[in-house]
Amino acid sequence: MLNRPLLLLTTLYFGAVCWAQQPDPALSSYIDSIRAIDNHAHVMAFSSADDKGYDQLRCDELPPATTLPPANLRFSPDIQAAWKALYDFSGSSASDEVLAALKARKDAARKKYGDQYHDWVLQQAGIDIVLANRLAMTPELGAHFRWVPYEDALLFPLDNSAAKSLNPDRRALFTMAEQLLKRYLQMTGVNAIPPTLDEYLAKVVTPTLERQARQGAVAIKFEAAYLRSLNFQPADKKSASAVYARLTYAPEAPDYTILQNYLFRYIAAEAGRLRLAVHIHTGSGCGEFFDDSGSDPMLLSSALNDPALRQTNFVLLHGGSPFNRHIVSLIAKPNVYTDMSVLELMFSPAELARILRPWLEIMPEHVMFGTDAGSFSPGADWEETTWMGTRNARRALAIALTGMVADRNITTARVKEIADQVLRRNALELYRLKPAP
Ligand SMILES: [Zn+2]
Repeated sequence: MLNRPLLLLTTLYFGAVCWAQQPDPALSSYIDSIRAIDNHAHVMAFSSADDKGYDQLRCDELPPATTLPPANLRFSPDIQAAWKALYDFSGSSASDEVLAALKARKDAARKKYGDQYHDWVLQQAGIDIVLANRLAMTPELGAHFRWVPYEDALLFPLDNSAAKSLNPDRRALFTMAEQLLKRYLQMTGVNAIPPTLDEYLAKVVTPTLERQARQGAVAIKFEAAYLRSLNFQPADKKSASAVYARLTYAPEAPDYTILQNYLFRYIAAEAGRLRLAVHIHTGSGCGEFFDDSGSDPMLLSSALNDPALRQTNFVLLHGGSPFNRHIVSLIAKPNVYTDMSVLELMFSPAELARILRPWLEIMPEHVMFGTDAGSFSPGADWEETTWMGTRNARRALAIALTGMVADRNITTARVKEIADQVLRRNALELYRLKPAP
């Protein structure tokens, strides 16, 4: 039997834990009513089995995993709830038979909703607009989708054999980046890498960004942490031009990074001129050789502090997790934002609430909702992860805000405003989006 003080302590402790995970019901239903803007998702096309457009550096083309996926990404009650909500389908495992039966339900839904299928998925999740991270947009994604194309390929125009030899993942990733650069060269009417940096900028880099802006992009995306460190130091054009010229003939030279650093800042400046926000993958990534230390968003400090880039808005995706505390200081800068994409799939709502809270206490105007929805595992595709991510994010936000009110950190009037900002308004303003009718 517990003694009295211990019993009291235990009651207080568990009482607090239970309470902290129970959001205010009125606030929860308000949050559930907000039509959200998904800042970051890998939207799959209708015939998703053949669709390679959902990502530039595709995790499913890396060497097969030799370890289990993160626990929260395995078959779970969340996935079961998504199947039930979207397709009225019950399955107690992700066995081949269950997945085949699920596919039949999914195909029936696709047939029923036709070219409204993607919009129907968004309605189920309460999402208004999605920023679709894709190589190219597909016509079936209608008025509720905006385009975010990829730029990493432009950073690596020369011989990448040294980087490819680092590990099997880098080999696969650089091969994909090189394929995309080839495509960009073709689209700008250039058959080979131009001989000088000036020509490369004028004939390939700027025209690619201008085409993307013309075709409706609202932001551009870097997944550079999969290919090198995010430490993009300043680099002057003269040194970068010399590296460009020399590396064409000497691929092993160690100063390729000078050229990459210059190109990153050039592209970021051009994005500012074209009013495109710059999305950057920060924090953990897929693959068994991912360089975690190189993905710390703090490595971007010198670029974020570059006075020449203050017209460019940066969005640090995935909250830099596990470096999410570093985000706290970075989002205090006028042109730096973050989103919670993938965190609501990796972590429970209670844990995500803990991650969100210091951001909300510092700069809620620079925090955005996002899912990173895409093909995560059999039975957890863009549709399911959109639904799960949105539901968990709303719950996490409600938990964090309930705690802030209870701690007299904010008023009940302010709490709804922050919920609106994070789920919708910050993105509407940052990308100057006009909501779909
Ligand atoms: Zn992503």
